[in-house]
Amino acid sequence: MQLAKPELLKTQNYINGQWRDAASSIEVRDPANGTLLAEIADGSATDAGAAVAAAHTALPAWREKTAAERAAVLKRWHQLIMDNADDLARILTLEQGKPLAEAKGEIAYGASYIEWYAEECRRAYGQTIPTHNPAMRLQTIRQPVGVVTCITPWNFPNAMITRKAAPALAAGCTVVIKPASETPLSALALCQLAEEAGLPAGTINMVVGSDAPAIGRVLTEDERVAKFTFTGSTAVGKILMAQCATGVKKMSMELGGNAPFIVFDDADLDTAVSACVATKMRNAGQTCVSTNRIYVHESVHDEFVEKLRAKVAELQVGHGTDEGVTVGPLIHRRAVERVAQLVQDSVDAGATIELGGDFLPAGENYYAPTVISGVTDDMRIAQEEIFGPLAPVQKFTDEDDVIRRANNTPYGLAAYVMSENIRRANRVVEALEYGMVACNTGVFSTTVAPFGGSKESGIGREGGVEGMAEFYETKYCCFGA
Ligand code: ADP
Repeated sequence: MQLAKPELLKTQNYINGQWRDAASSIEVRDPANGTLLAEIADGSATDAGAAVAAAHTALPAWREKTAAERAAVLKRWHQLIMDNADDLARILTLEQGKPLAEAKGEIAYGASYIEWYAEECRRAYGQTIPTHNPAMRLQTIRQPVGVVTCITPWNFPNAMITRKAAPALAAGCTVVIKPASETPLSALALCQLAEEAGLPAGTINMVVGSDAPAIGRVLTEDERVAKFTFTGSTAVGKILMAQCATGVKKMSMELGGNAPFIVFDDADLDTAVSACVATKMRNAGQTCVSTNRIYVHESVHDEFVEKLRAKVAELQVGHGTDEGVTVGPLIHRRAVERVAQLVQDSVDAGATIELGGDFLPAGENYYAPTVISGVTDDMRIAQEEIFGPLAPVQKFTDEDDVIRRANNTPYGLAAYVMSENIRRANRVVEALEYGMVACNTGVFSTTVAPFGGSKESGIGREGGVEGMAEFYETKYCCFGA
């Protein structure tokens, strides 16, 4: 791998400020063509225990630093990431598949959490509470929860780490991270830069491992762990929540979605189509906020489908490092086969392929950006999280009915509303049972706002002041006479 700074390519686990080998290794391959990129030390549950011990030992000294001291280190980390953004983006594209421009966007987005929380930690104010008894004084102080453990997915291998680690570290917690085995290189490169920035040994630790359940047990059950935070599937999230329950760990869960995208007859159709393609095709549809069900008012349905078809046809599929490519491969063959099966099931149930619907000769992990019409709510494609470049369109006639259909899912992560009518837009945004609703845009995620879901899409928020609050304990202090 050609990098301006070759030290960013790390292949060992990072525990207590040391790079450690393991008995066996995990192969990391380019999903676009299967090229072997690196072999990474396959960490174990024992390594996870050592990482938790290191974080526990490092906690008192880190917690006792002033916010300004912690902020200074975090700002150096942020700057080093930005200085090495080209290398980090290249690593990300090679191991994950997304186009280089998207990878660069993720590096800047991921780094922005570090900068923002470095600033925010200086405002961890408590309160003085008007007392109920003149002889007593009441106040609250905010203290870091303690050791924080994180498990992150492969779809945003940089930003899903910084979104957790930055507020945790800024608050005065120490962290242990298990990144996805598909994309450990982006994660380990972050640790290399954290070390260069001066994060003390044990403050940030990383264990990559193929035995995720065994490592997950340590990270959720070790008595030294105060809080666990996860981004991934709802199915795995439920297992990890149950494990957290045994020790009453604090936890945050950022889980799956089934995002509706509602296009009213008063929408600006060009805006709606651009927003739809942005949310649907970014990262080849492999984001938890990708729209999964596109509801279009019957009076504008045909025009919308035609415009969507034309816009999706412009996408360039290929290797993420190639100039002009806008859609890369899916993460592995299993994902491609699942997506193809969802298309087949929809067609068998009466849907129509408007565009795509094929594997591609570029490689076994590619699937064509696809538009499908005639979809109904009972089809699998409308009920399961697609995680691929499929845009399934349905018709609706009535506002109340489409709200009911949009809400009729166990998920509650993101929803989209397209309407130029401000009263309707307000009404529908408020009626949707989702943690995040975007109106007349397909891209809404930012450091400064709370990201997270309701229902089976999760617990807690990342980003904004809410994301910081997740890592503090509010202590009530009562002083007697
Ligand atoms: P995805 O479909 O995005 O891979 P997963 O929920 O399977 O979603 O994976 C997200 C993260 O959870 C990855 O880091 C993966 O290794 C980890 N993981 C998967 N299964 C378990 C488990 N039983 N215990 C702990 N971590 C797990």
